[in-house]
This record gives sequence, structure tokens and C-alpha cells, in this order.
Amino acid sequence: MTDIPSSLLGDLQAVKGFDEAAFLTAHKLAPPVSVRINPAKDIGLFTANEKVAWCGSGVYLNERPVFTLDPSYHAGAYYVQEASSMFLAHMLRDILAERKGLRVLDLCAAPGGKSTLIASMLDKESLLISNEVIRTRASILDENMTRWGHMNTWVTSNDPRDLGRLHGYFDIIVVDAPCSGSGLWRKDPRALNEWSEANVQMCGERQQRILADVWPALKQGGVLVYATCSYSPEEDEEILDWLAGEYDVSPIAVEVKEEWGIVTTSTAKGMTGYRFFPDKVRGEGFFIAAVQKNDDADSLRPERFKTAHDKKIQQQAGYLLNSGDAVFIQADKENYSALLPQHEADLQILKKAVYMRKTGLKLGMPAAKEWLPEHEVALSIDANPGVPCIEADREQALRFLKREEMGIADLPKGWQIVKYRGLGLGWVKSLGNRSNNYLPKQWRIRMDIE
Ligand code: SAM
Repeated sequence: MTDIPSSLLGDLQAVKGFDEAAFLTAHKLAPPVSVRINPAKDIGLFTANEKVAWCGSGVYLNERPVFTLDPSYHAGAYYVQEASSMFLAHMLRDILAERKGLRVLDLCAAPGGKSTLIASMLDKESLLISNEVIRTRASILDENMTRWGHMNTWVTSNDPRDLGRLHGYFDIIVVDAPCSGSGLWRKDPRALNEWSEANVQMCGERQQRILADVWPALKQGGVLVYATCSYSPEEDEEILDWLAGEYDVSPIAVEVKEEWGIVTTSTAKGMTGYRFFPDKVRGEGFFIAAVQKNDDADSLRPERFKTAHDKKIQQQAGYLLNSGDAVFIQADKENYSALLPQHEADLQILKKAVYMRKTGLKLGMPAAKEWLPEHEVALSIDANPGVPCIEADREQALRFLKREEMGIADLPKGWQIVKYRGLGLGWVKSLGNRSNNYLPKQWRIRMDIE
């Protein structure tokens, strides 16, 4: 690894918990590999592995497997996530304890690490908006959220300023901000070459801009979670102090066990943050903090609207779902989606302000004599287990994921969900002697599977 810049090391001397020698030694070691299990798709993977201390569903792996060649990864059984970032679960546990039916925004969400974590912690009545401003990254986010399988996680692709128009709408906003990235050097040593003091300053200014833009969307009494993977105080504690200078906020502290190795820092303006150094925790460099908004905020109220629930479509497509309480609405010219009735008003509010990329669960469309099901249904945790399916072994599942013939003889005719270890991967339509593979082209595995 290229040398760590001396100006950063100089900057960090004053930071609580920084130990230069140990920090440099840790950068000579390989980063640990960890994954987070999807509790809604728990098929008993990695049960004997060491757990991440601050996240019940996080586990360390002894080596890095080729995840692409594991069909259960494609089915959304787990998400590959660096362990320090899983601390968000610990922070949210306290914050969510007394709150239900929340509106949560993950503002900088791609590829979906924090969003999949949040989705697993929310009750069904809550709604998570996962936003990613960069369109190409939004499609990866969309894919990962679809794999995770929750109907109440929607994807938008907007600038923070657009979301700021939703005055007082969100109970919780998570800003996992774009940053100079020093905390991830062990995983991506090339990023070292892009680091400079000027870039740290530019990132700090952008972080302030993002926070200022989205701030109006947070309710009074709502919680802002701010995180970076940078060690620089200019992007961490100083941003908290900037926030405390601009707005009326209170710090939120959580209990941290000493043996976890996490460093609790206090800022000049009395805010609290949590720092992760790779020589102290089994994870990468990370910073996270939460504050409560005390400012007055006018809140958007759901307007009266006429339900768009389509009973005819419910009769045709209702068999796809396990949850009987969904409403069926027209998503675009041809496609229909399902969502919970309590989220219909949210859709009215949101679509006026932002570009909705994924709303509820996309169901597909009616055709002459049948329903053409959407890929999303196969991955949904709300899919009806009674829908015809084929259980594939690993080889067959990988062939399906390459969009090749699975090589299963005598398939019953019609639409079938292909499953691996009981988890849906996608659809095939069997014609008896052959079958058509409906895995979306952009989802297919491109690597050699032999
Ligand atoms: N939360 C993600 C996760 O856990 O997988 C990681 C987010 S990454 C640290 C920061 C994200 O912010 C990137 O996806 C990046 O595209 C996005 N971003 C870049 N510039 C932005 C801006 N000006 N406003 C909002 N988001 C931005």
C-alpha cells in the first residue's frame, strides 16, 4: 500500500483514540470480510461464524468467497457489508424503540448497505425511501432493494434539494455522505492516490450543502443520522458542529461497550460521534452520529385523495401475494404495483416532489389469457408460497442466473418461480419441452460458472 499521507496523520494527532503506530500496522493487514443476513430470508447460513458485536445479523467470514457464484446471494439471503457500518443497527435500535409507522429517508443510498439494514429493522407500517442521485448507481440500488424483498422500501433518484421540498415529512433521515474515503483504504488502496487536503475540504463543503438542502424535510423531533467513511475531523466532528451552529439540534448518544473498541468523541459544540479505527475494531474506518431536530418545521399532511385501488387487477394478480391487505394500482401505462393502503397517501405526496423509480412491489401486467408476472414478485418476501415453483440445485440455479437453459427435464407447463434453497431467484415459463428464462438481462451473471 502507498504511504498514508503525513498531512492526514498530522491532522489525526489531536483526535481522541488515534494511535499512529497501531493505525499504520493495521493498514498492513487484510480487511475482515463480513456479511449481514436478511432476517426475512434466513435459511441458516453462517450460523457457526463469529458475530459482529454491534449487529445481531452481522457475521464475519473466514475468507472471501466468490459471492457471484452463490445463488443464495442473488436471492437476497445476505448482503456483503463492511462491519463498522453495521453500527447503524445499534444506533437505530434505541431510536426506533418507541417509534412505529415511520417515514425514513436514506438520502445517499447506493449501493444499498444502509438501506437493506434499515429495511430489516422497520415495521410494516413504516416506509423507507432509498434515494440515490446518480442514475447509474440508482439502478444498482434498485436491484439490491428488490433482492432484499420488502414492499415498503421505495427507490427515488433525486438531488437532496428536491427531497428538501417535502417539508417536515420524514421522521428519520440518514445521510451516509459522499466523502474523501480514507476509512476504506484497506479495501481499496487505489483511493489513496485520490486523497488530498483540497479534496477533504471540497467534501466538507459538499456535506454541508447536502445537509442544508435536505434539512427542511426532517420533522421537528425527528432524527438525523450522519455518517462518513473518512477519518478527517473536517468531514466528521466539524460537520456536526456546523450543523449545531446552523440549526437547533440536540445530540443523541447510545451505549457502547468498551470491548467493542469504538471511540466516542465529543465535539466543541457538545455533539456526540462514534469513530471506528481499524486497529481498535474488527472493521474499517467509519464515523457516525445522530442528532435530534428541535427547530420548528411545518409538516406536509397527506391530502384527501381517491384511492387508485383496482379491484379487477386484484382479482387477476392477487394470487401472487401472501398479504391480503395490499392495494393494486397502475404503476405506468401497462404495469401494476402492490402497496399497503396506508402508503397510498405517501405516494401522492412523494410523486409531486420527486422521481419515483420503484414504488411498492411491481406485479407485472395482464395479457390475453394470463398474468405476465414481474421479476420483483419472485424475490418478494410477500410472494405467495403457493405460486408454482421449481427447486433448483446450485448448478441449475447458476445456469438460470446466466440466462441459460437450466437442464431440468419434464417441467410442468406455465409460469414457475425458480427457487434455490427455498428462496426465489426469478421466473421461467415452461412450454413442456423447453422453457423461457425471464431473468432481466441486466441481472444476469457474466462470469464463468465452471
Ligand atoms: N449508503 C450507501 C451504502 O451503505 O451502501 C453508501 C453511500 S456512499 C458513502 C455516498 C453516496 O452518495 C454515493 O452513492 C454517491 O453517488 C452519492 N452522492 C454523490 N454526490 C452526492 C450529492 N451531491 N448528493 C447526494 N448524494 C451524493
